[in-house]
Amino acid sequence: MRDDLLRSACFAALDRLRARFGEELPYAEALAPGFQFDGRRVPFLNYQKGIYRAAAQTGPAALSINTSANSPYDDAATEAGLVYAYRAGSIDQADNRALRAAFDTAVPLVYFVSHRPGWYQPEYPCYVIEDDPHARRVLVARGTIRLLEPYLSDDPLDRAYALREARVRLHQGRFRGLVLPAYRDRCAICSLRESRLLDAAHITADADPGGAAEIRNGVSLCSIHHRAYDNDLVAIDPDYRVHIAPRLLEDEDGPMLELLKTFQGQRIILPTRVNARPDRERLAARFERFSAA
Ligand SMILES: [Zn+2]
Repeated sequence: MRDDLLRSACFAALDRLRARFGEELPYAEALAPGFQFDGRRVPFLNYQKGIYRAAAQTGPAALSINTSANSPYDDAATEAGLVYAYRAGSIDQADNRALRAAFDTAVPLVYFVSHRPGWYQPEYPCYVIEDDPHARRVLVARGTIRLLEPYLSDDPLDRAYALREARVRLHQGRFRGLVLPAYRDRCAICSLRESRLLDAAHITADADPGGAAEIRNGVSLCSIHHRAYDNDLVAIDPDYRVHIAPRLLEDEDGPMLELLKTFQGQRIILPTRVNARPDRERLAARFERFSAA
């Protein structure tokens, strides 16, 4: 009745997809084919409905829920958990019944969050920890996998920690979903175009005041250039030119470093939309730090 085997097949399939594609999964390539269970193909989600219970299930509870790219989850992330609204219509309508049954049966499910059209970040195992039929919403919490079993701790501290982690991951995912498309999924410095190796780098660190996850505080960078930027080995000045740390320029250490040096003085790739370009003031403040180092 809990569909434990089907759920664990779903989580295992998502583990494999994340190893291959990264945290954010392309719907068409990764999710649309579904996963195999008991000799049949089972879809992961229903992006039109939000709440999804697979036809292959015997139990009543939803297998996954999802948000769309234009339903901001930001308001949804509260201290107590992630708020998820019922579908329109009766509270006993089939989808709402499946959502509420996830609370009654305390089964783990997947929360697919979309930060941009066509892409989903799966959070699992998640649990429905509160059902409020009057407000027509449930509260969802992130659990962990313990001894290969999905598990939701009773300890409020554990729960708060897991939730904070989930919020950070969702926040990073959203930032990435804003920044990468503006650069057409390329590294602004070396123009590498492989989304598994690309990050949204913060100009002002997100922990600092002014380090908001807005597009003008971000630059799309490959893993190497992101690391180098965070460590002041590479900088971008307010005129969008690349600077390599003198220490690296003087060094001679094989072809990779030689390649890195060639970007010295070059202009970064900029988003076509002017109001998506990196904020010059933030770049200037950041560049000062690099020059002082
Ligand atoms: Zn790069």
